[in-house]
Amino acid sequence: MDANATTPLLPEVAEAMRPFLLEQFGNASSIHQEGQLARAAVERARGSVARFLGCRPAEVVFTSGGTESDNLAIFGSAKQGDHVITTAVEHHAVLQAVARLAERGISVDVLPVDRQGVVSGEDVRRALRPDTSLISVMMANNETGALEPVQEIGCIAAEAGVRFHVDAVQAAGKIPISVDSIGCHLLSISGHKMHGPQGVGVLFVRRGTRLEPIFAGGAHERQRRAGTENVAGIVGLGKAAECAIEGEGSVRLAILRDRLEKGLQEYSCAVNGGQALRVPNTSNLQFDAVDGEALVIALDLKGLAVSSGAACSSGASEPSHVLEAMGLTPNQARSSVRFSLHRQTTEEDVDRAIALVAAQVTRVRELSAVVR
Ligand code: PLP
Repeated sequence: MDANATTPLLPEVAEAMRPFLLEQFGNASSIHQEGQLARAAVERARGSVARFLGCRPAEVVFTSGGTESDNLAIFGSAKQGDHVITTAVEHHAVLQAVARLAERGISVDVLPVDRQGVVSGEDVRRALRPDTSLISVMMANNETGALEPVQEIGCIAAEAGVRFHVDAVQAAGKIPISVDSIGCHLLSISGHKMHGPQGVGVLFVRRGTRLEPIFAGGAHERQRRAGTENVAGIVGLGKAAECAIEGEGSVRLAILRDRLEKGLQEYSCAVNGGQALRVPNTSNLQFDAVDGEALVIALDLKGLAVSSGAACSSGASEPSHVLEAMGLTPNQARSSVRFSLHRQTTEEDVDRAIALVAAQVTRVRELSAVVR
């Protein structure tokens, strides 16, 4: 139950990738037949991703994942003298990128969020300046699942004539995405968060949006991202996008998530961001008097994988910046554990998890009472 860290490859995705790992190993830039087979596969996948996002194939730029897509959007957009707006709950791929911009003397505003982890559109509007060149706000938060008001911000950005980037890495495959209804210029997704392979992603770049490449090299991806295409990965991401379009969708996941939250209610837990609109798969639970990391380890020993804070920063015992930005105390943040479900999670999985968590929460509480 750590799908926001990564999701299993769907069998049909693995099947689609197989020939490009074993037999058809052409370079998509080569003019011989092997190269042209690879090129055709990349372009088919581009078409699938374009249908998934509601954009033109030429607006799809393949990258190495969500982190690169976010970096390309930010470094490719901001220049000296600009002002950039983002929020305190973004993924580190955005926050660390804008921190670098600030080191270079670019002005950055990191906006606060409310108790549910949601930024206010009005705050975004108020932060606009004549030199604002970029707004970057995520669609769904990786730790709580909270949805940010990206459509409203899209309208604000359009009125002000400011470029808008959306990190949709945790929304893709969980809720429908339409770049036109959001009104964004740039949007990031990542293969491995939507049952595709790790190490491949997409940056949607709206037609007419000038982007400074961050890699020096060949003219791949219409000169927006140099480097030989990861053909197997791209084919896998294309297939994952097709499966997400056809998928049984969010209702089943929301039912499972609600079952989990209801089943754990009596163990003194609160749902962080529970009042926000959320993607259907994520549940961030705060357990009274429980060390989240101890609970994660106890559950791992019983075969249940969950996460305390974002997986990308686990290993560091700093409390989650997202939960702190929502006003939780460091202790409350450290008592929080994220459960994230995916297409293959079953009702039996949820019931087993409830039983395991119930037992381990009691045990961890008893142990910490003894230590105290
Ligand atoms: N953005 C968000 C919201 C994420 O959750 C993640 C990964 O956890 C990323 C970006 C980075 O994506 P990737 O792992 O593909 O680099």
